[in-house]
This record gives sequence, structure tokens and C-alpha cells, in this order.
Amino acid sequence: MKTVYTAADPIMAGFIEGVLQNAGIQAHAMQAGLYGAAGEIPPNECWARVVVVHESQAEQARAVIKEYLEAEDDPEARAWQCPRCGEQIEGQFTQCWSCGYEH
Ligand SMILES: [Zn+2]
Repeated sequence: MKTVYTAADPIMAGFIEGVLQNAGIQAHAMQAGLYGAAGEIPPNECWARVVVVHESQAEQARAVIKEYLEAEDDPEARAWQCPRCGEQIEGQFTQCWSCGYEH
């Protein structure tokens, strides 16, 4: 298992878990509190985290998360970056014009 996302907000971690599962990636949100008492471990370790089951999917998972978070930041535009070729695609298109990747 590999951590691909950490959040102070456990609800956000749950959202990310769902986004990854929708993308076909086996992921689990692990809530803070499973890691023992605060103070024994660095603060970042106390955060909720999302892990992928297969380490080979970690890179893909990070790309999916980044895309999701950027869409949240800018709901008007919703431009996305093609995870295959890196082209920036405008929000109204669901397919990459460059390589044909289905968004
Ligand atoms: Zn592409």
C-alpha cells in the first residue's frame, strides 16, 4: 500500500477515496486516530490519508487527485490535463484532441 494523499479533513479523504475508486483504482481512506495518540508521531502522520492497494497505481492516482482538486478550484472552466500526453484540454471536451484519451 502506498499513501497518495493526506488531508487534515477526514471528509475530504473520503471524497478522494471515491474519486479514485471511480477511476478504477483500488484505494482506501484511512482516518486519523488509527495511528495512536497525537504527540507520539509527527503531526502529518495524524492526518487522514488515502492509500492505494497497488503501488504501481500510485502515479495514476496522484494524477487523478490533482485533476479532481483543480476542477474543484475552478468549477467554471473545468479544464483538464490529459493524463496520457499532458495536453491541456478545455472543459467542454471529454476526449483529448491530441491522443484520443477518453476523459
Ligand atoms: Zn492526450
